[in-house]
Amino acid sequence: MTECVFCNIINGTLKGEFVYNSDEIVAFKDINPQAPVHILIVPRKHIATMNDLTEADRALVGNMFIVANRLAKELGIADHGYRVVVNCNRNAGQAIYHLHLHLLGGRRLGWPPG
Ligand code: 5GP
Ligand code: ZN
Repeated sequence: MTECVFCNIINGTLKGEFVYNSDEIVAFKDINPQAPVHILIVPRKHIATMNDLTEADRALVGNMFIVANRLAKELGIADHGYRVVVNCNRNAGQAIYHLHLHLLGGRRLGWPPG
């Protein structure tokens, strides 16, 4: 068992409610949802933070946004609107050090964020 919660969800050691699965990206429901729709879009590759992205990850990052686009439509939040968030390091409140997009929708979202 690795120390990383998301690696353990990806490898099946921990349970996840998956809504998308490919050879490079998975998406599953957030365990503590902050909106009616709250999905985490996660690369299978362990990348700790957004700071750790490199040129080699260009296509992967693009594909993560394409998955967000697709799930927003499938989950019925595309027309009303939604938010995609990446938290990086302590000031943003990053809790899991495995890169992920939050896809949030289904209610009016405040701005600026807290
Ligand atoms: P971060 O603050 O790192 O951007 O967000 C991490 C997110 O992962 C949080 O929204 C938190 O609720 C979620 N999370 C933490 N542990 C688990 C877990 O074991 N399963 C799932 N599905 N989500 C988790
Ligand atoms: Zn990981």
